[in-house]
Amino acid sequence: MAFEKVSTILKEVDAKKTAVLAFDCYNYESIAWIIETAEELGTPVIVMLHPGMMKYITAELFAKITKTLAKKAKIPVGLHLDHCDSFDTILGVIKAGFTSVMIDGSRLPYEENVRATCEVMKAAHALGADVEAELGKVGIAANTSDFKNEDMYTTPEQAADFIDRTKVDSLAIAIGNAHGYYVETPKLDMNRLKEINKAVDTPLVLHGGTGIPDDQLKQAFKLGISKLNLATEYFALFYSTTKDYQQIKDKKDSLFSLWAYQKKEIQDYLRNKLSLTIPDAKTSR
Ligand SMILES: [Zn+2]
Repeated sequence: MAFEKVSTILKEVDAKKTAVLAFDCYNYESIAWIIETAEELGTPVIVMLHPGMMKYITAELFAKITKTLAKKAKIPVGLHLDHCDSFDTILGVIKAGFTSVMIDGSRLPYEENVRATCEVMKAAHALGADVEAELGKVGIAANTSDFKNEDMYTTPEQAADFIDRTKVDSLAIAIGNAHGYYVETPKLDMNRLKEINKAVDTPLVLHGGTGIPDDQLKQAFKLGISKLNLATEYFALFYSTTKDYQQIKDKKDSLFSLWAYQKKEIQDYLRNKLSLTIPDAKTSR
């Protein structure tokens, strides 16, 4: 328990036909509140750093905070680098203490994606870190074609070939999902997910969790998604709760009162999301 490798967590949730939630974080509170809520519910959780957040917090400090908090927790907590296309950044982050990384070569032509992924695999595994890759193209949810155009989706045949050649620990797939806010409610291609899951033994990852209806998420977990990435709606809550607090009539003009309000609101959200991974659990709202 406590600090755990992402590949171990994925194997555990896979066996239970559910998923682990992975949240992008950027500071102490965004990490601590997740671990605290996951501990309350008894679910594993993965804390992620996106390379874009490294201007706000170093990978080394991020890893130290996560590991310090994870060691005190009774649930498995994983640490992962989200979307990265730089070999040097990936190596630097592993040296800073990360035990799982994502090499995102999905923008490259297929053969180059295979090559870039193999290169990272070799180095990361030699250093004891897990690797997630992406196949198909998870685009931007603001563009309808990015999540409705099936040409961007992952195919079962290519997934099988990619896994065979790269041997990655997990694979992010495109099945009607995209990053950010969807311009219309997405409809995940569940048949395709079923086929991909049948074609490969590797745990599958779903990116672009913001705005996918809960019933679709729960179904996707049953059909083979082992890790769900969430960032946009989590970050947005830190901003919206700051604004909402200003509207409270008897609010105290105190930073600590604002934090207490935010923590309660954000943990309500986390409780609701994390409970989706507990088979047959009722959501709290
Ligand atoms: Zn993503």
